[in-house]
Amino acid sequence: MNNLISDLQKLIRQPSISAKNEGIEKCAKLVQIMLNKSGIHAEILRLKKGVAPVVYGEVKSKKNNSKTLMFYNHYDVQPVEPLDLWDDPPFSGKLKGNKIFGRGSTDDKGELITRIKAVEAYLKTTGDVPCNIKFVIEGEEETGSAHIDQYLKKYKNKFACDGVIWEFGYVDSKNRPIVGLGMKGLLYVELSAKESIRDAHSSFAVLIKNPAWRLIEAVKTLRDSDGKILIKEWYRDVKPFSKKDLEIIAREPFDEKSFKKEFGIKSFVANKKGLDAKKALVGGATCNIAGFVSGYTGDGAKTVLPGKALVKIDFRLIPQMDPKKQIQRLRKHLKTKGFSDIKIKVFHGEAAARTNPSDPFVSKVMEAADESFGKSILSISNAGTGPMFSFVNNLKAPCISIGSTFIFSRIHSPNEFARVDLLKKTTKCICLIMAKFGKV
Ligand SMILES: [Zn+2]
Repeated sequence: MNNLISDLQKLIRQPSISAKNEGIEKCAKLVQIMLNKSGIHAEILRLKKGVAPVVYGEVKSKKNNSKTLMFYNHYDVQPVEPLDLWDDPPFSGKLKGNKIFGRGSTDDKGELITRIKAVEAYLKTTGDVPCNIKFVIEGEEETGSAHIDQYLKKYKNKFACDGVIWEFGYVDSKNRPIVGLGMKGLLYVELSAKESIRDAHSSFAVLIKNPAWRLIEAVKTLRDSDGKILIKEWYRDVKPFSKKDLEIIAREPFDEKSFKKEFGIKSFVANKKGLDAKKALVGGATCNIAGFVSGYTGDGAKTVLPGKALVKIDFRLIPQMDPKKQIQRLRKHLKTKGFSDIKIKVFHGEAAARTNPSDPFVSKVMEAADESFGKSILSISNAGTGPMFSFVNNLKAPCISIGSTFIFSRIHSPNEFARVDLLKKTTKCICLIMAKFGKV
């Protein structure tokens, strides 16, 4: 594990904010150099101008080239704002005790470094790797992986593999790694209502309709207060949990108390408890208001009748929900409820993916995780979204998430950090996965 910390610091200190196109090219180059230094052949792949490059790495195994394991990661990071809440500059890479601080320290540069170091360790000690290794490291994950599907299609043969280790994996508050078998999908839309051509004095509210009310009425028809989505046929294509899924969910620990404490909340949606809360986390669909704007929200009072109102909504999708079909269902719903004046703008749609728990790849990763961490947890899906469906669909390979992301490591927030002990354990775990995967 030569230079694990110093190499991670180097990566953190190179800003790479995809949302602002800041440092993207430089960071891709740095990753390429780092891969090369570790003995991994690396090149920069491009799609077209204006699209972040993918860094591709490859090592062929001398003794077993019949199986190929892919590591999917990303070198881009989230923006750093609000700046004043950081204790140190966001790209400091400062080491304090067991923690390395900085944007990207965990998400995803920390995860990437464990994989590079695992391959490097194998090459240095044995001169070989137990199976073929491929790295696909993209630069647009934090803005929604807009082009990964096109990259996967263009480089389908180059990327061919038998299994994918996903870009991250959580470690819970008791230091148990979570082996995740899926990601939820996402449909992100903006709904807007417009009435008068300009804001008006609010005394005219007796005559002029208020678009904020209009939008609130429309949004209110989408979901009941227990979180159930009321759009017709929204759940139609969803397959219920299998018996095995339910067994896995029941076994999965979930510390309701510390979860609530972390967010300062007293109860969950629909007062869910126990198994229901766990089922929702891994397999629940949502209709979430991400933001709502209209009229005046500044200091003091301003009596105004806004001319327009806008809401951003994200729907988490679960397996078998097709984003295109769901958009049609949403459109139809608004129309039949009498809201055809509400405009719909679609930002992003991607389907969910889930690897079959009986796939032999799953037990290999579980064994490796148990051996390196002591005890691991199997989870049928992460609660978040990632482009896993594109990988499964294009490469026909199972995807599993396992990694070093401590659940409270403040990813996407100020003072993001990575835990050194977890980085080291994960590197060992990745070595074991390679060994077990390559065993014939
Ligand atoms: Zn992220």
